Amino acid sequence: MNNNLIAVYPGSFDPPTNGHIDIIARASVIFPKVVVAITHNHSKDHLFSLEERVEMMKESTSFLKNIKVDSFSGLLVNYLDKIGGFVVIRGLRALSDFEYEFQMALMNRTLNKKIETVFLMPGQEYTFLSSSMVKEIAILDGDFKKLVPLPVYKKLKNQQRI
Ligand code: ADP
Repeated sequence: MNNNLIAVYPGSFDPPTNGHIDIIARASVIFPKVVVAITHNHSKDHLFSLEERVEMMKESTSFLKNIKVDSFSGLLVNYLDKIGGFVVIRGLRALSDFEYEFQMALMNRTLNKKIETVFLMPGQEYTFLSSSMVKEIAILDGDFKKLVPLPVYKKLKNQQRI
């Protein structure tokens, strides 16, 4: 095994959920080093700033040793080039994720033929979970404690914007 192999898990993580953490924990067992790379998704309105998302992700993954949290802007392939990685991790929840993920994986490979995308499935209990659902439940004052890591729960509770 290449001990310098870096796997990059990109996403907007607005906010990180237990589904994201489940994928990160699984990746951390497979790869020597995993970089969670947080970015702006132009098709989504973000509730939390990039700095807030990075902070929440750092706190939520501090129990894992081989994880680094970073942020980037622009194309993922350019970021991968910059840090010397070629493996991308994405989570697959249901068939509904597949088309978008498949399109993105092949587009990334079109931009750089070395890129390999590895899809990981979360534990069954997280297959319904998304950041947007968590935000909706929080806005409607529902109980979302079991859906997110504790630092995210505290941040969302204190969030006056919702
Ligand atoms: P993006 O804006 O790039 O879609 P997200 O933060 O929504 O970023 O998701 C990042 C990655 O994590 C995607 O591959 C998505 O499919 C995956 N993901 C999101 N929620 C879950 C979950 N509950 N279980 C497993 N994977 C998930």
